Amino acid sequence: MSDLPTQLVDRYGRKVTYVRMSITDRCDFRCVYCMDEEMTFMPREKLLTLEEIVFLLRAFCELGVEKVRITGGEPLVRRNVDWLFKQLGELKATTALKELTLTTNGSQLPRYAEALAEAGVDRINISLDSLDADKFKALTRTGELQQVLDGIEAAKQAGFKRIKLNAVIMKGRNENEIVDLAEFAINNGMDISYIEEMPLGHVDHDRGESYCSSDEVLEALQGHFSLQPSIATTGGPSRYYQVADSQNRIGFISPHSHNFCSSCNRVRVTTEGRLLLCLGQEHSMDLRDVIRRYPGDMDKLKQAIVKSMDIKPEGHDFNIEAKPVIFRHMSVTGG
Ligand code: SAM
Ligand code: SF4
Repeated sequence: MSDLPTQLVDRYGRKVTYVRMSITDRCDFRCVYCMDEEMTFMPREKLLTLEEIVFLLRAFCELGVEKVRITGGEPLVRRNVDWLFKQLGELKATTALKELTLTTNGSQLPRYAEALAEAGVDRINISLDSLDADKFKALTRTGELQQVLDGIEAAKQAGFKRIKLNAVIMKGRNENEIVDLAEFAINNGMDISYIEEMPLGHVDHDRGESYCSSDEVLEALQGHFSLQPSIATTGGPSRYYQVADSQNRIGFISPHSHNFCSSCNRVRVTTEGRLLLCLGQEHSMDLRDVIRRYPGDMDKLKQAIVKSMDIKPEGHDFNIEAKPVIFRHMSVTGG
């Protein structure tokens, strides 16, 4: 056995305890801020297999990673995804893994919510940008609002207590629903986070015009709710406010206006096994190559992961007005 650490730490002393893993770049929706209407998806042989994903995540969790979030694309459109979650749930018994979470558009939850609860998924984030069926359709291009509302209900029925909604607010699209979305969340016992649009990949609108800052969203909310800044964190980049007279919180993910790099504890793995050390930079390591070159060699894989800590950059710098410098779509990166 080699002298591998039990905790990943980068050059700036930040502990890496959180991995977000994209398990597919495919999706049943085409949200306007995330994808083009016509997308070319990756050839299947380039994707990590489900077995490779389990192997990879086991390596991270044996190196001290405590939280894994499965994302995409839409993770629940991947075939046999219930098998994957069962394997990952079992890592909690043998590794540092404490929290297994999922980000989904909710459309497949009626089918999978129970299996996810049984597998040991702790929390689910569901994206919901509009409560108006027509606007929802316009934002997602192919999505049906009712499908997602049924998905939220299925998650509640399956016993998920900690469901969080995620909403990307865009000027001229859904900015007039900021308060309605928060009310819907609170009335259903859920937290909600508002996400600033990020310039990831080419889309067919001007992101500079649609961009709505967290401060603008907060201002709209403050007219309707009494909000107290909260010190709570879920290990992610959200800043939270407690809603008075409620158990629920409202969060803001603000990569532009409140850069969160100094406390960054996470890395991402793309659908094809590329380890991204920063959402806004191209620094990466090809872990699929290591896995396929040395099949079954856990030490080799762990050594590569430990080495990658040397290239985790200090931070990112998004500029919404400029052309995208990051050509990856969020669906490949894993939002
Ligand atoms: N399909 C799942 C979903 O929509 O929740 C998981 C993947 S999606 C890429 C994860 C999150 O990223 C979603 O909440 C989505 O709203 C957000 N997202 C996608 N593209 C974005 C962008 N350009 N800027 C900000 N958020 C984005
Ligand atoms: Fe699909 Fe999620 Fe991207 Fe929407 S945000 S297109 S649901 S991957």
